[in-house]
Amino acid sequence: MSQGLIDFHCHLDLYPDHPALVDECERLGLRTLTVTTTPKAWPRNHALASQTRYVRAALGLHPQLVADRAAEVSIWELHLDETRYVGEVGLDAGPRFFRSLDQQKLVFDHVLKTCSRRGGKILTVHSIRAAKAVLDAVEAHLPASRGRVVLHWFTGSTSEARRATDLGCYFSVNAEMLRNERAKSMIAGLPIDRVLTETDGPFTRTGDRPARPADVATAIDLLADLRRSNRDATARQVTKNLRTLLIAADIDPD
Ligand code: MN
Repeated sequence: MSQGLIDFHCHLDLYPDHPALVDECERLGLRTLTVTTTPKAWPRNHALASQTRYVRAALGLHPQLVADRAAEVSIWELHLDETRYVGEVGLDAGPRFFRSLDQQKLVFDHVLKTCSRRGGKILTVHSIRAAKAVLDAVEAHLPASRGRVVLHWFTGSTSEARRATDLGCYFSVNAEMLRNERAKSMIAGLPIDRVLTETDGPFTRTGDRPARPADVATAIDLLADLRRSNRDATARQVTKNLRTLLIAADIDPD
């Protein structure tokens, strides 16, 4: 695997220039995991990412959409054999989505159990105000030997991060997290070999525009500062981490 930048959670299909952005990631050799929020978006994302070297698409059903789209879990399941990557999935117990939390838990448990049965999946997981519930579900339904979880934009406590580490989880961190004091101290305590980078674009900003995958360089710089390391060594470490994760899920890292 060449050394370079990694954006392990972004939404390329939410930009007006989706195909051009896929080409840009390919040109830059930027390893990108583009997630989907509804399985109805899967076929197009899959088509655009199926002939690529660096861009992979993940099949998701976003917890914020479960209130309206829980029935689409059957479509999610229909496509599951077409990919090794799942997301965005998880739980959101924030004020806007708390009402659907029971329904979200049913869907997330089903996703974890199904991934465990099929094996070899990597899941990018949302856990806003639900770190404990997400970890409880992962512990109950997806042993690390059956699939790997990457906690995206994790905002749990340091002790919850330790529990997640013990469960075999990875963490994808973005520039916005690395500018938040509380998140920074949690990230500083993570084992460096479990850390990946992300933009969550277009939901984060770089200056006055939505972040693009290449802006993940900012996360590498901030992570390097936090760990008192330098950009190259940090990028190398994150590349190595992704390689280890892929091998653990029995995916060819090259
Ligand atoms: Mn996201």
